[in-house]
Amino acid sequence: MADTHLSHQNGRVAGPKHVVIVGGSLAGLFTGVALKTIGINTTILERNPNKLLDNQGAGIVAGGDTMAFFEKYNRCPRDVAIQSQKRLYLDPNGNIVHEEVMKQTMTSWDLVYYLLRANYDNVESGYLQGKKPTSWAKDTDGTVDYRYGCTVTGYAMQAGKVKVAYTREGKEEAVSGDLLIGADGPSSTIRKILHPEVHRDYCGYVVIRGTVPENEASPESKAAFIERFTFYHGPGVQNLTYTIPGINGATEVGKRLLNFVWYTNFPEGNDELEKLMTDKDGKRRRITIPPGMMTDEAWEMVKVRGRNRLPPQMAEMVQKSRNPFVQAITDVIAPTSVHENGKVILIGDALAGFRPHTVSSTSQAAFDVLMLVEVLEGRMDMAEFERRTVEYARKVSEMGKFIGDRSQYEERSLKEYVEDRNMMSTPRNKLEFPPWTQVR
Ligand SMILES: Cc1cc2nc3c(=O)[nH]c(=O)nc-3n(C[C@H](O)[C@H](O)[C@H](O)COP(=O)(O)OP(=O)(O)OC[C@H]3O[C@@H](n4cnc5c(N)ncnc54)[C@H](O)[C@@H]3O)c2cc1C
Repeated sequence: MADTHLSHQNGRVAGPKHVVIVGGSLAGLFTGVALKTIGINTTILERNPNKLLDNQGAGIVAGGDTMAFFEKYNRCPRDVAIQSQKRLYLDPNGNIVHEEVMKQTMTSWDLVYYLLRANYDNVESGYLQGKKPTSWAKDTDGTVDYRYGCTVTGYAMQAGKVKVAYTREGKEEAVSGDLLIGADGPSSTIRKILHPEVHRDYCGYVVIRGTVPENEASPESKAAFIERFTFYHGPGVQNLTYTIPGINGATEVGKRLLNFVWYTNFPEGNDELEKLMTDKDGKRRRITIPPGMMTDEAWEMVKVRGRNRLPPQMAEMVQKSRNPFVQAITDVIAPTSVHENGKVILIGDALAGFRPHTVSSTSQAAFDVLMLVEVLEGRMDMAEFERRTVEYARKVSEMGKFIGDRSQYEERSLKEYVEDRNMMSTPRNKLEFPPWTQVR
């Protein structure tokens, strides 16, 4: 579809000189770091009014492409993840009813974010363990510009460039680039402009998430969750709990966190959903109740639900968690990633907001950017980029719907839940792409 095939001249990249990235979370930062490394100048426009995004303090399962990205682009020599050694399945009483040896890498959103900020625009933090980002600078790096408090409202094509309009402190401003990358998440403004017909739909359940320092857990919970990836399935409930890095990304034993991810049904229109999704300021939020914004009444309701519906170790995590937050589970996917003849590209959650059961959202963002670099360095054309990113998005999106609906709305055997989970762990290069995923 697109003609943007960028060629090399004298071994250097000939193509876009300046790329505008909308969204300064993980997908936007993956893009910024990779493009900086290959000598392309970037501007990131992030609507959040603060210099740094708020840490939600939760875990990320670091899939193959996330780790591949860090191996290729991370200049900070420190651990990015910790390993879980086994998968466990619990029954309602907390007994282990199934276990398999399976290594998996777990990290935290904040560690990934701070490492990317250090690599992109030299942000210093405790996550760097005393390393100085300025010492990694290379003469060949592209320039960087992270602008926060900038809400993108639209774009226009002008003489082969993309002019991106945004508001900052009530004033209208604009910046032009050779390419626009829409990395603005599952409620993407860029996607809404391109595909107003696409909606983000609530799936009838939420995920309640939080962490507990490993040293505050009971011996039973330590045995169930430390360096384990532990599941429970019950009627309308799925819980998974695992170990993630602690404060400043600490990976040492005793300093880590136990992270729970608890899916539980709250049908649309139900009073309990209204109570849960109305924050301390009385505002009904559609998608997220961030840490610290749940009302005491809603939190009591959640804790009672945990005591009644979860195995004791998982109910304990809910009771002991200090900063829980809630996300409504939604489905959204754009028809394609490449637009405006290869000048406007959607990546990450802006392309497809997966259900978190897929544990693939961060990997998708990393994969999309690894593919984008293939295009910008002339090893792939844009049509191939579109094929790969869209097929992956369609496939994983459907896998997430399949396992999510089976888990929340059907009574399946433990064997089937184990098979669903193992299917979700298929490495990307082993996935099969049936005709309905394919891009012609
Ligand atoms: C603050 C924050 C904390 C998170 N914490 C976790 C976590 O703990 N665990 C986890 O698994 N996942 C977390 N996520 C989600 C996770 O980052 C993503 O699912 C995944 O990494 C892909 O991210 P993304 O960059 O495509 O989308 P997102 O992470 O949703 O990022 C999109 C970014 O675009 C910005 N944006 C949106 N619209 C505009 C606009 N019009 N103009 C400018 N900027 C705009 C948003 O403010 C946001 O920073 C978090 C996301 C955010 C934003």
